[in-house]
Amino acid sequence: MSQLPRAVILLSGGLDSATILAEAKVAGFELSALTVRYGQRHAVEIEAARRVARAMSVARHVELEIDLRGFGGSALTADLPVPKDRSDQAMAHGIPATYVPARNTVFLALALAWAEALGAFDVWIGVNCVDYSGYPDCRPEFLRSFEALANLATRAGVEGSGRFRIHAPLLTLDKTQIIERGIALGVDYALTHSCYDPTPDGLSCSRCDACQIRRSAFNRLGLVDPIRYISPD
Ligand SMILES: [Zn+2]
Repeated sequence: MSQLPRAVILLSGGLDSATILAEAKVAGFELSALTVRYGQRHAVEIEAARRVARAMSVARHVELEIDLRGFGGSALTADLPVPKDRSDQAMAHGIPATYVPARNTVFLALALAWAEALGAFDVWIGVNCVDYSGYPDCRPEFLRSFEALANLATRAGVEGSGRFRIHAPLLTLDKTQIIERGIALGVDYALTHSCYDPTPDGLSCSRCDACQIRRSAFNRLGLVDPIRYISPD
């Protein structure tokens, strides 16, 4: 029986991470999904990650608890309001209150640690620099730097048994292109969750940046977003 190479995929339960899980699968990797529970992450988001992992038949799924509320500094980790009803222009510029300090660095470091433990050299992350242009840790130069660091920071890297690679195939795609790609790969977006401020029973708010970007992308494609929102429109 041939053994597939292993890859660690950061899986939030959102639309982008579900898409890269499918990408990593068609690329021929055995999937190890990592979900970081970083505080103020709603149970519905963790549930979404579990549903997606199950649907994609991952080999293993680790949920790691790292409570970033100990640091705060973000609308997602402190008691700050989530921005709502922002214009496209406002969403396209600046770093919003939902930015979590150094989050992708923290997440990639955890994924790298697990990858080394698994004997994997491939780490996948669903960042893109189109819809969230303001996030410093979604840019190609950040990912290249982290990849260089990964090969310096690990025993597997310095002993030369392989080279770590950070895969971010969505980096230059907008949300519409990501959804088209995911649908072609058979991703069921009804399983995913994007909202920053859902109701306790899992309805999305329709007004935060994540909801607006997601819904307008489905609309532009002439599709109905299959998840449930508070307001019908
Ligand atoms: Zn929302």
